[in-house]
Formats: sequence, structure tokens, C-alpha cells
Amino acid sequence: MRIDIVTIFPRMIEAGLAEGILARGIQRGLLTVATRDLREFTDDRHRTVDDVPYGGGPGMVLKPEPLFRAVEAIERSSGAPQSVVLVSPHGRPFSQVEATRLAALERIVILCGRYEGIDDRVREHLATEELSIGDYVLSGGELPALVIVDALARLIPGVVGDEDSVAGDSFSRGILDYAHFTRPAEFRGWKVPDVLVSGHHGEIRKWRKRQALELTLERRPELLADAELDMEEQDILRELMERKKGAAHGRD
Ligand code: SAH
Repeated sequence: MRIDIVTIFPRMIEAGLAEGILARGIQRGLLTVATRDLREFTDDRHRTVDDVPYGGGPGMVLKPEPLFRAVEAIERSSGAPQSVVLVSPHGRPFSQVEATRLAALERIVILCGRYEGIDDRVREHLATEELSIGDYVLSGGELPALVIVDALARLIPGVVGDEDSVAGDSFSRGILDYAHFTRPAEFRGWKVPDVLVSGHHGEIRKWRKRQALELTLERRPELLADAELDMEEQDILRELMERKKGAAHGRD
């Protein structure tokens, strides 16, 4: 997979790619992330990427020409991308489902906005989709681009050492991950749940399923509507829901 990121702050992207799982995946050649400095696609002496907004108002707007040129240069050097993502607070919410869809593509481009935003003709005629990483406003698209790249990279086989770890992650099957513990077994008087140190693999598996379902039911019940649950989990969930209903009646 190849991801080209167009930005006016390439060093911000490079810093985010330099550590951990992402850095290792890139080093192993499992994905390629190329950072493109938007200023290299300007044609004036001052390498201008922004201009004042038509109609007045505060702030500056990213000009369309350098962004179009950048994407056209990427197309010439590495072929047409299957997706040109504009990161924007107006976009569709980015989620694990979106990450899985994008991770199956071979070439994508991410355009990072700055200032008040980007000339809207970029959204309409250059980007093929718009993604938001949440209902808050950041000063630029670099952190959202890194969030997307990180989530995609984890889904590329071989990037995360242990595939089971990705399969068990929160949202991968539509539910939250179970709680994790490590040594010491007792810390400041707080003990690790007995079952985890029992050595009974069947019991541990069941406890984890119950724990993940309980957590999801309590914190994010809306996720359960689309969750992929096995028979054991369906039974546990039914029992948890009945118990919850019982408790609610008990309070009446
Ligand atoms: N005036 C715009 C915000 C611009 S923020 C508005 O109110 O909608 C500058 C840039 O940061 C945006 O163009 C976008 O690329 C990026 N950005 C900010 N918040 C974001 C978010 N939640 N998700 C994705 N990109 C975001």
C-alpha cells in the first residue's frame, strides 16, 4: 500500500511516522508513506499556498492550484490513486469500518487542510471523499492524516506482530476490547482478577468475553446492534441484558 500525504508541514508527518509500529511497517516495506510539501507545487517566488477568502471574513484559505498540481504529480509518478481523502470536520466520521475499507486499497492520497480551510473546488473536483476524525476543530489536517495512516497500517498484514492482537482490538468485531492486566498480581492491595491467574484457559476466555460485553453494554450499547458475536457471546449478552432488565425492575 502506498499513501501520499500532501501538507504544508511535512516534518509534522515525518515525526509521526518515525516511531513504533508505523516506523517498523514502513521499514519492512509493508507500506510506503510519501510526504509531499505543498509549497513545491506553487509557481511564485514566495511559494504562496494561501490567499484571503472571497466575500471577506477572518483567516486565510488554501489555494486550489498547488493542491491540484500535487495530486497530478502523484498520479504521474505512481499512478491514479483509488481514493483522494480530504480530511475535514465536515467529513464522514472516520471509524474502524472506514479504516478496513481504506486498508484494502493500494494507493491513496490524503490532503491536509490548514487555516480556515481549503478552497471548496478541491473538495468538489479533486477529493473523492471527506473524512473527519471527530467533532472538534484542529488547526490542521496533519494529525488527522496520521490518525488515519496509523489505523490503516495496523490492518495491513504483518505490520502488527501478532494478528490476533488486531482481531481482538476494540471495534474490530463491533465491541470493545476486554481489560488487560500484567504483573504484579497484587499492586498496592489491588489484585488481578483470580480467573486470570487460574490457568483455566476456557474460563479465562469466557471471562474476557463477558468482560468485553459488559463494558460494551455499559458504555457503548449502540455498538451491539452491528456486532459480530459467536454463540457463546450471544448467550452471555442475553444473560447480561436479562440481569440488567431485572435490576431495572428491582429499582421500580
Ligand atoms: N473553518 C473550518 C476548520 C478549519 S481547521 C471549519 O470550521 O470547519 C483547518 C484544517 O484542519 C481543515 O481544513 C482540516 O483539514 C483539518 N481538520 C480540523 N479538524 C479536523 C477534524 N476534526 N477532522 C479532520 N480534519 C480536521
